[in-house]
Amino acid sequence: MNVLIADDDPLSRVLLSATLTRLGHDVVAVADGAAARDLLVAPNGPRMAILDWEMPELDGLDVCREARARATAYPYLILLTARDGHEDMVEGLDAGADDFLTKPFNANELRARLRSGQRVLELQASLLEAQEALVHHATIDHLTGLINRRMILEQLEHQLNRERRIHGSVSIGLVDIDHFKMVNDTWGHPAGDAVLRATAGMLRASVREYDGVGRFGGEEFLLVLPGCDVDQAPLLAERVRQRVAATSVVVGNDVIPVSVSIGLATTANSGFHASTLLASADEALYRAKAGGRNRVESGTAALLASEA
Ligand code: GH3
Ligand code: MG
Ligand code: MG
Ligand code: MG
Repeated sequence: MNVLIADDDPLSRVLLSATLTRLGHDVVAVADGAAARDLLVAPNGPRMAILDWEMPELDGLDVCREARARATAYPYLILLTARDGHEDMVEGLDAGADDFLTKPFNANELRARLRSGQRVLELQASLLEAQEALVHHATIDHLTGLINRRMILEQLEHQLNRERRIHGSVSIGLVDIDHFKMVNDTWGHPAGDAVLRATAGMLRASVREYDGVGRFGGEEFLLVLPGCDVDQAPLLAERVRQRVAATSVVVGNDVIPVSVSIGLATTANSGFHASTLLASADEALYRAKAGGRNRVESGTAALLASEA
């Protein structure tokens, strides 16, 4: 482990450092509380600290309080003190200390307390990992790696709120792979999955970093384009359409042609309501399909009038 020692007494620092090093830990030793606090709140700072209680400027309790308030991950904090009254212990725990070590320390006890701290830190790391996995699972479409329907709709709401405030515009594009059922039927479901992944990659690569691309349903994707107005949206969509149409997806020995139809909607025509925008894009997509597929259609202002 990477262990931080904070003690204003040089001899105490040397003794602790020597013991910890002998136990196989990497040691960083500082002589005051402010330096300890700075290290503990740093993004990749030490997660295990042994803090002397009495130090000039920031004492051990202050370091505990500030580290608890500001550290990004949970550090395990051991207070090193000559005090052993119950009141002191309560005060230390209330300040955020996890454990105590009395001076002069016993090497075996120090080792045992570090082990117990390590268990807490390991448990915390595995909980964080599990939480990250859950968030990933709940927001990312596992087949394509794009954000899922829930997240792209959340982004749409966010961008609509933002652009309405700054009197900007948002365009959306509903992208649907043409005759995708036939891809599955002809080349098999795994090939269909490969086409979905490749299409997702082409969509992501065709737009700016702050544009949203999500998997909206089976073979449908939603583009959320903040700041993109009624004139720019068709140009962008046409670029996307051409890119997909110009690229075949190679799966084993099969070369699979892919095209998409895109239905566009813009706040200038449909207002700043997600549901109206989506209905407008859906209607435009329907026309793109009916008109022969592999094409882009834009939603009309008529929908806004009918909703109003
Ligand atoms: P159109 O040009 O009118 O859009 O026709 P289409 O065949 O693309 O549309 P349809 O809605 O009839 O078929 C969509 C197909 O997408 C049916 C479904 O089995 C398939 N599909 C949905 N999700 C997945 C998936 O995750 N993997 C694969 N391989 N296929 C999927
Ligand atoms: Mg001291
Ligand atoms: Mg579809
Ligand atoms: Mg389709």
